[in-house]
Amino acid sequence: MPNEVTLKVKAKAVKPLKAGYPLLNKEQFEQLNDLKEEGSIIRLVDERHQFIAKAYYGKQNKGYGWVLSDKENEQINTDFFQRKLKAAIEARASLFQSEVTNAFRVFNAEGDGIGGVTIDYFDGYYLLNWYSKGIYQFKDAIIEALESVSDYKGIYEKKRFEHGGKYVEDDDFVKGEKANFPLLIKENGVQFAVYLNEGAMVGIFLDQREVRQKIREHYSKDKNVLNTFSYTGAFSVYAALGGASKTTSVDLANRSYAKTIEQFSLNEIDYESQDIIVEDVFKYFKYARKKGKTFDLVILDPPSFARSKKMTFSASKDYKNLLKEAIEITENQGVIVASTNSASFNMKVFKGYIDSAFKEMNGQYKIEEEYTLPSDFKTTRSFKEGNYLKVVFIRKL
Ligand code: SAH
Repeated sequence: MPNEVTLKVKAKAVKPLKAGYPLLNKEQFEQLNDLKEEGSIIRLVDERHQFIAKAYYGKQNKGYGWVLSDKENEQINTDFFQRKLKAAIEARASLFQSEVTNAFRVFNAEGDGIGGVTIDYFDGYYLLNWYSKGIYQFKDAIIEALESVSDYKGIYEKKRFEHGGKYVEDDDFVKGEKANFPLLIKENGVQFAVYLNEGAMVGIFLDQREVRQKIREHYSKDKNVLNTFSYTGAFSVYAALGGASKTTSVDLANRSYAKTIEQFSLNEIDYESQDIIVEDVFKYFKYARKKGKTFDLVILDPPSFARSKKMTFSASKDYKNLLKEAIEITENQGVIVASTNSASFNMKVFKGYIDSAFKEMNGQYKIEEEYTLPSDFKTTRSFKEGNYLKVVFIRKL
């Protein structure tokens, strides 16, 4: 049993917590000295010692832990995790039954009632991401609960805590059958090679499934497509399958070259008729401008923060400039897909960057459509910042 501490919450933090705000942070408390062991259960009480909620202590970049229950008598044990996991799996029933997709998110942290842990499904294999030492204390109970509500082939995990929130290299395999890598999964009938044993990024970002599908179905036919920050080229693969006249994928990381060839080849696309370029995106923009290259569709999906040898990119500071570069090499009536996973600004602010970028370029635009997280990446209304994904399809007029 984890130990339990009672913590008094400041008056102004009571209301949001009672309304379901799930995250613990420093500002909610007078002092946190009683918090010693990660994984402790915290009874949150108000100034008059009235019960508010039960949480656990787990430090991660976002805060100090997460609320688990608003019921004083609810025990945090295998049964508790079983109820949460069962509900999450039932909510994804249509994805589990899908003939065309067998990789998706099964449990999305606070959106499914337990902050600090996510579970993805890759054709029979589960991948658990642990975001704090605190939640990792519940590993055995959570895995026991998962096994009791679902069949699986094998379980893998990523410990994304310590070292300033960075992924810790370790043995990723937990139990069951080991997978043969690459594990071949499909999404909307498109194949992808996934590696659950190679670090934090496994080859595909599952939260863009709907965006990729839209690009294939409505924005690719006969288009010359530029995919920046392309990683394994997932957007390029969809664009090529959607009939793009050509795709150009640009990513700084050396690994991206072979990985993009692999994804194209799995889908029987001749990679030699596509461009795969290992280079800094900003350098590529300069080159494209000099050569007078333009594109009908430009996809921007940068990390929220990246440091390369020469520069740092931060979405909140630099997205507007990234857009300006893209606007310059997009054809009139062409489309820019602007995507960000930065939780530090919301859709309204993001659209502000888009508007400023076009204004500063003396350009006109029209927003065609918008996406946020798909429903398997479940979010909760009481924690809006959990819906970090923002994707805007912008037509340059
Ligand atoms: N759009 C991708 C995911 C991007 S992940 C997809 O849909 O799968 C972020 C990628 O940006 C990483 O592969 C990283 O190597 C790359 N990257 C970071 N900074 C870059 C830069 N300045 N120029 C090019 N690529 C960069």
